[in-house]
Amino acid sequence: MRFETLSVFPEVFAPYLDASIMGRAQRKGILDFEAYDLRDWTHDRHRTVDDAPFGGGQGMLMKPAPIFEAVRDIASRGDVPPHVVFFSPCGHPYDEACAQELSHMDRVLLVCGRYEGMDERAYALADEVISLGDYVLTGGELAALVVIDSVVRLLPGALGDEMSARDESFTAGLLEYSQYTRPADFEGMTVPEVLLSGDHAAVDRWRRVDAIERTARWRPDLIASADLSPQERSLAADIMAESSRPTRAASGVAGTQGGGE
Ligand code: SAH
Repeated sequence: MRFETLSVFPEVFAPYLDASIMGRAQRKGILDFEAYDLRDWTHDRHRTVDDAPFGGGQGMLMKPAPIFEAVRDIASRGDVPPHVVFFSPCGHPYDEACAQELSHMDRVLLVCGRYEGMDERAYALADEVISLGDYVLTGGELAALVVIDSVVRLLPGALGDEMSARDESFTAGLLEYSQYTRPADFEGMTVPEVLLSGDHAAVDRWRRVDAIERTARWRPDLIASADLSPQERSLAADIMAESSRPTRAASGVAGTQGGGE
């Protein structure tokens, strides 16, 4: 899969994408990446990409002309036109389902804003506008890296045999179940007995219940659309009805031990 970025800071991508799993994905040919510098599509001596907003107000906006010229030029290269993504806090919220959708595309161009954002007309080029969440970043580069990372790890072969994206948070509409490694007793905090039993069916049942409990407790907003049996749904409802709902911080690790069977 080919990812391209268009931004005024093209140098920020390589340190992340050349390391670890993203680096290996590039070496294996799973990820083909190129970072374009928006200033290459300017025509003045100062390579200007921004200008003051009409109507006044603070800061500078990205001018439409270099963005239009760059996106059209980049799109005309290669065999398939890219799916063009812009970033903005005004976009649709990004989630695992969006990552899944993008993972089926051959070529994605991620257009990163800076400053106070972009001239509104530039968004006419976008096939979709993505927001990472309800906060404001200084630029779209981090958003682009989040999208690339979350999509590439879904591509066949990217995670390798030792890891799998199958059972993780959000794949079944639930958070992931609690996981433990050695030692079985750490400073008095013990691992749930069932996980040491070697009974795989019992482990699977425990994990399912634990995932439902965690989701009901920490992300009750996910429960409505999760795929649950009537019995599981009533378990989730009971947890959500608990008056003193523990917060993630208050109930982490030790607090999860009682979960399940
Ligand atoms: N003035 C804009 C924010 C501009 S921030 C507003 O209030 O909506 C500059 C750039 O950072 C944006 O153009 C976008 O590319 C990126 N960015 C900032 N916050 C983001 C978010 N939550 N999700 C995705 N991209 C974001």
